[in-house]
Amino acid sequence: MRRETLSIPGSTSGLSIDLTVLRFGTPGANPKIYIQAGLHADETPGHLTAHHLRQRLTALEDAGRIKGEVVLIPVANPIGLAQQVNGVFHGRFDLSDGGNFNRYFPELTDEVAEVLASQLGSDSQKNVALIRSALKTALAARKPVTPTDHLKHLLLNEAIDADIVLDIHCDSEAAVHLYTLTPQAEDFAPLGAYLGAKAVLLATESGDNPFDEAVSRPWLQLQERFPAAAIPLAGLATTLELRGRADVSDALASTDSEAILNYLTLRGAIAGTPPTVPTPAAPPTPLAGTEALTAPRPGIVVFEKEVGASIKAGDVIARLIDPVSGEETLVHATTDGVLFARSTGRFVHAGKRLGKIAGAKEIRSGKLLSP
Ligand SMILES: [Zn+2]
Repeated sequence: MRRETLSIPGSTSGLSIDLTVLRFGTPGANPKIYIQAGLHADETPGHLTAHHLRQRLTALEDAGRIKGEVVLIPVANPIGLAQQVNGVFHGRFDLSDGGNFNRYFPELTDEVAEVLASQLGSDSQKNVALIRSALKTALAARKPVTPTDHLKHLLLNEAIDADIVLDIHCDSEAAVHLYTLTPQAEDFAPLGAYLGAKAVLLATESGDNPFDEAVSRPWLQLQERFPAAAIPLAGLATTLELRGRADVSDALASTDSEAILNYLTLRGAIAGTPPTVPTPAAPPTPLAGTEALTAPRPGIVVFEKEVGASIKAGDVIARLIDPVSGEETLVHATTDGVLFARSTGRFVHAGKRLGKIAGAKEIRSGKLLSP
């Protein structure tokens, strides 16, 4: 393992921020795997899973079993990890401007399309090399200003030429689930199956360019712009949600890291024979089919369904109790599916998102992710 420290300018004089990158295998070897944890800095299951991965990858490297290159960033967001106000940890939104750390990564497709228009042909391997080089060049031309822009720049620079990118997150309370591009569903089906994912959520554009789509969507967009050229989806990326914030244990992190390593073995990054891929626990569903349950009024929330439960339209998911009037309001599902996530708070204000159900029928459009 080679440990490298990249520097991010701080927000003011006298401050600087370190981003630690762990590199395994041979630089430049294929496939290149990129894994980061904690872009939302208060999502600790990813940090612990990365810790387990670091140990396992070190052992695999010592055994000569890493065939490709693996880049692991165990703390992808040191800026967010440092944020606390009055003793409360804030890792999802940048306190300097309120922005979600996992939105608005650089969109590079327009720049690279202009450069590549006269160069792409029928040789897909040559096209992949050209596109990766153009993406790196386009990113290098960007001049980040704020610390968070610098952080996004460094993360994307490490991931943009990878074959497979895993961005590890978690939800409030949740079953394991994945987000990925619709045409990548088959590529990530084995990962979901090894992890026992209860939902795999697909979209061709989720909105506001989260990290995984900053890596994967340029390939899809270039396919659309240059239909005559041979362009594979060479930057496969997924957002991996490892349950809920409090689901932090060595047992879970060990199981999850083994599942990830099994997938990397299947993809040829690690030498060995991977276990047979289990039958997926759930078929992929469109992200546009996810029902976001919201509280119609404030109250104490009492959930009637557990995360991972199969739901039928009409089921009562939660009761909202007004402790002043004594009234109860039932929150019903309007779609069949799997309740893959719930909110953590047990007193909610009107409009608060209470949970998410992965349904098979598209019911939403526009921006599809949570704020
Ligand atoms: Zn997250």
